Amino acid sequence: MTRALALFSGGLDSILAARVIAAQGIEVLAVKFVTPFFGYEILVDIDGYTREIREKYAIEVVVEDISDGYLELLRDPRHGFGRHFNPCVDCKIFMLKRAREMMEELGASFLITGEVLGQRPMSQRLDTLHVISRDSGSRSLLLRPLSARLLPETAPELQGLVDRTRLLDFSGRGRSRQIALAGEFGIHDFPSPAGGCILADPILSRRIKRLYADEFVLSSKDITVTDIRLLLVGRQFILPGGGWLILGRIEGENDRLLELAGEDDAVLQMEERPGPAALLRRAARCYAEAETRAADLDLAAALVARYSRKLNGLPQTGEVVVALSGRRWTIAAEPLADELFAGWML
Ligand code: SF4
Repeated sequence: MTRALALFSGGLDSILAARVIAAQGIEVLAVKFVTPFFGYEILVDIDGYTREIREKYAIEVVVEDISDGYLELLRDPRHGFGRHFNPCVDCKIFMLKRAREMMEELGASFLITGEVLGQRPMSQRLDTLHVISRDSGSRSLLLRPLSARLLPETAPELQGLVDRTRLLDFSGRGRSRQIALAGEFGIHDFPSPAGGCILADPILSRRIKRLYADEFVLSSKDITVTDIRLLLVGRQFILPGGGWLILGRIEGENDRLLELAGEDDAVLQMEERPGPAALLRRAARCYAEAETRAADLDLAAALVARYSRKLNGLPQTGEVVVALSGRRWTIAAEPLADELFAGWML
C-alpha cells in the first residue's frame, strides 16, 4: 500500500490534508514535530497524545522532538521572521527536510502538508510555497492536498498514486470550506486556528527575541531547551549586574523552577513564609567578578522578600536561603521597592 508522510501541526488544515489523502486509500502517517516553542507538553505523555489523535481524527501520528536544530535555526533564519519572532518559512523548510529524511525509514512515497495557498501573508504565497518545496529538497514529492488543484502537479499525481481530481482548490484566509469539509469527515471538535506557537505570540516572543539578541548573560550560541522553558515561567528580570532572574508566581511555577534548575544556577527561597522560588541562571559561571554576583544575589533575595506573603498588606523583611554550587547560606533581605526594579522586568 502506498504510504504518505504528513506534517501534522494538529490544526484543522493538517487534519484535513491527512484525511483527504487517506480517503484515496493511501496510508497516511503523520509526524508531529515538537520544540519548546510548540507542542513540547506532548512529550510528557506521547502515548496519550497519539491515542487522542487516533480517536478524534483517525490519524496515526508519531512525535519527533526537533529542539536542537531548531534552537540553532532561530539564530539566523535565511528567510527572516514574520510579525513576531516566528521564522515561518524556515520553520517549514526545516520540518520538511527532517520529514524528507524520515521518508525512507518509514517507507513513505511522498509528503503532504495542510498549507493553503494565500492563507498566510508570508509563508503561504505562491512564490513562498515554491521556495519551501525547493529549499527543503522535497520539490515535487511535496503535495498540498487542500490547494493541489491550484498548484503544479506533483510526483505522486504524475505517477498515478494520487487522483488529482479528488484533491482540492482551497485558497485564501476564509475557513468556511475547511469547516464544511471537516463536517463531511464527521470532525466537529478541532482546535481554533490561533495556533499555539510561542514564536508568534506577541508577548512571549519578545522575551525569546531578547534572549537571541544576546541581552542575557548567555550568548545565543549557548541557548538550551532549558533556557527556553525557563523563559516561559513566572516573572523575569535582568538584574543590574547582568544576571537573569526568574521568580515563580504560583506553587506550580516554583516547582517548575526547582525541577529545571541546573548545577550552575542559584536557587533562592524564603523558608519562614510562603513566597516565590527564584532562580538566578548560570550564577556560578556567568559573572566575571564575585562582587557583581554577590550584588545580584542580594537584589534577587530582596525581590524574593518583595513577592513573599505580605503581612498587614506590606512586604516584609526576611531570611532568604541561597543554594549555589553545593553551598547554602542566608541573606537577610529587605523587600525591594517597586520603582527600583520596574525597569529590570522583561
Ligand atoms: S507559526 Fe510557529 S510553528 Fe507555525 S510555521 Fe510559524 S514558526 Fe513554525
